[in-house]
Amino acid sequence: MIEKTDVVIIGAGPVGLFAVFELGLLNINCHLIDNLDKVGGQCAELYPEKPIYDIPSRPVVTGQELTDELIKQIKKKFSIKLVMLVTILV
Ligand SMILES: Cc1cc2nc3c(=O)[nH]c(=O)nc-3n(C[C@H](O)[C@H](O)[C@H](O)COP(=O)(O)OP(=O)(O)OC[C@H]3O[C@@H](n4cnc5c(N)ncnc54)[C@H](O)[C@@H]3O)c2cc1C
Repeated sequence: MIEKTDVVIIGAGPVGLFAVFELGLLNINCHLIDNLDKVGGQCAELYPEKPIYDIPSRPVVTGQELTDELIKQIKKKFSIKLVMLVTILV
């Protein structure tokens, strides 16, 4: 099956997740691809419980909380097309 989209983002870490939101503000659709089975990149996979102190406006947030809130931020305004367990080879 062929699916059309405007942008393909490789990597569902915090940068990829925020890119989905920013592109949504510009009315640009995207698909988000990751080789892991969950979103959040290093934050969710390597240190979900570790406190992070260097996110603007957040005195402290864990890796998993940051991931959950990035997803919440997207879903409040836009839909998200996730493609998990796929490795992009270049
Ligand atoms: C232990 C630890 C503690 C940290 N603590 C902090 C902190 O307190 N504050 C801070 O600012 N930063 C911290 N960092 C760094 C921070 O996690 C990274 O800067 C951040 O995760 C980078 O986000 P990213 O979205 O660019 O990439 P990543 O989080 O690395 O996500 C990239 C995603 O892309 C996927 N991917 C990569 N290649 C492919 C491919 N070819 N095909 C499909 N999927 C692919 C990966 O599976 C991954 O899910 C820490 C890092 C570690 C390891």
